[in-house]
This record gives sequence, C-alpha cells and structure tokens, in this order.
Amino acid sequence: MSAPRIVTTAAELRAATEGARSGGRTVGFVPTMGFLHEGHRALMAAARADCDLVVVSIFVNPLQFGAGEDLAGYPRDLERDLAACAAEGVDLVLHPSVEEMYPRPMVTTVTVAGITERLCGASRPGHFAGVATVVAKLFNIVGPCRAYFGKKDYQQVAVVRAMVEDLAIPVEVVARPTVREDDGLARSSRNTYLDEAARRDAVALSRAIRATTEAVRGGRRDRAELERDLEVALDAAPGVVREYAEVLRGRDLVPTGTIEVGEEYVVAVAARVGAARLIDNATFTVAPGGAVHVDLGVLGDGRAFDGA
Ligand code: AMP
Repeated sequence: MSAPRIVTTAAELRAATEGARSGGRTVGFVPTMGFLHEGHRALMAAARADCDLVVVSIFVNPLQFGAGEDLAGYPRDLERDLAACAAEGVDLVLHPSVEEMYPRPMVTTVTVAGITERLCGASRPGHFAGVATVVAKLFNIVGPCRAYFGKKDYQQVAVVRAMVEDLAIPVEVVARPTVREDDGLARSSRNTYLDEAARRDAVALSRAIRATTEAVRGGRRDRAELERDLEVALDAAPGVVREYAEVLRGRDLVPTGTIEVGEEYVVAVAARVGAARLIDNATFTVAPGGAVHVDLGVLGDGRAFDGA
C-alpha cells in the first residue's frame, strides 16, 4: 500500500495518463468531491481490479452547488482521503484548486435535456449542468478511460452516460451498486451532517424505498399507487421532510401508467433529515416471466443488502 502521487494541475495529470496509455496501460478514473467513505472506496476497488492506472479526483465543484446550498460547509479531510486512496491502491490523486479548474468564469456549459427534468434536476436547478460540465472537463483531462460512478446518484449516472454518448467522449462509464450502512442508510459524505437523532430518522429513506420494492415483489403494478405509498411512508417518518418521492422508468426517467415488463424502474427519494439533504434510490425490473429483480445495493463487505 504505497501512497498515491498527488497532482494539482491538469497538465501533470494528462502527462501521467497519456504516458500510461502509450505504454499500453489502461486507465481507471473515479471522480469524487472527497470526504471519502465506503461508497467511494468500492468504486476505487472496482477500478483497481479492472485497470492498470487508477486515478481519483477530489474536487468540490462549485458549479454544481446552487445558491444557499452547502458549498462552503461541504465536508473536507484531504489527509484521511489520501489514506483511503492509499489503502485502495490508487496510483494518482488529482486535487486541483478552483482556480486551476476554472481560471476564469466559464462561458461553456454542458446541459443534458430530458432526463434532468425531474428528481434532483427539478429541485436543484442548474445542478446537472454543473455536474455535466465538470465531468466533461475531467474526462478531457484524464483522457480515454473507464470511469466509475455510484448508482446512489442514479440520475447523475444517466446524465453522464447520455453526455458521453451524445458527445462521443472516449470514456466507458461503469455504474456500481450503492453501498449502505448495516441499517440500510446509503453512505454519503453528507451523513456527517446528521446528529444522533437525525441519524436514527435517516433510515426511513431506505425503509420506504424497500417497502416499495417489496410491494412490487408482492404483485403491485400500478406505478402511481406505488409512488403514493412511497410518499405516504416518507411523510409518516419522524424528522423527515420529503423533497420528492418518485417511481420512474429508468431509461428516460419519466412516469409511466403501469409498470412495464422488461424495463428497469427507479424508486428515488430526496428528503431533508436534520441538517442534511439526503437522496437514495433502488431499482427493480419485472421480467417477462413475472420474476421481480430488485437492486437495493450492497453492504460494506459487498454482500447484497436485502433490508431484512
Ligand atoms: P461524490 O463525492 O458524492 O460526488 O461521489 C463521488 C462518486 O461516488 C459518485 O459516482 C457517487 O455516485 C459515488 N458514491 C457516493 N456515495 C456512494 C454510495 N453510498 N455507494 C456507491 N457509490 C457512491
């Protein structure tokens, strides 16, 4: 477990990844905003298993925070992050300043239409333009690679995939399962905002999501009904203020009448719990034979989380 090399400029990073690729080595890339936890570490481990050179970026991207959001207070701990990167065998950490990434006000923005209309796109105007723009810039700096993202940010993965496809960016996007605490809470850097009571209340998100996927397993197929019960479950949870609760077709993130066979659906929620705004989701697919496949994510040790 040797310490990763830390670089702060795009030029240094590009030289390293170009050098690797010209020597026939593959590059794995994990973009993050730091304050790394098991969810990030699972992405690093996947990159380490698949690729020769593993790059992690740590950059709290101002473009994706709206006015009144937690940009200034976003948790940071570079030393601990570097230890996590070392433990996962990461080769290179890109830790640029805001001035390095944005030396002058950006006049170019990448916007992805359609799939950004609902969920966090509706409640955080401009958020996904900020995400798509920084990810496009990071992809241009890192160059051709496999890039690892967490399904915890389901809509973000959809946005990045659409951008990569539309703009023919030479990056292979890999989506990995949501990593959860033992009680089901999705790991998040923002969980650090939760005090003891809020931490207890926060489990309501994954419980409500699981109740929905259990209802699908039990034969419910009316999408609006599933969504209404999801809302009711969240609204009944103490300390939880719902922002959204939706059951959408995953491919285009739109509501459909009933649950369509063979299509992936996402059960997605966002809520304020104490001082934190948390998001969570799970996916399910009803197979043509009627079998229901549910993905609720995994525990820290990689075992599937079933919530039971
Ligand atoms: P962030 O640092 O929050 O921007 O997240 C960086 C990457 O880690 C994104 O691809 C996230 O989806 C992913 N990630 C964050 N939390 C989790 C989690 N609990 N499980 C899996 N991936 C996650």
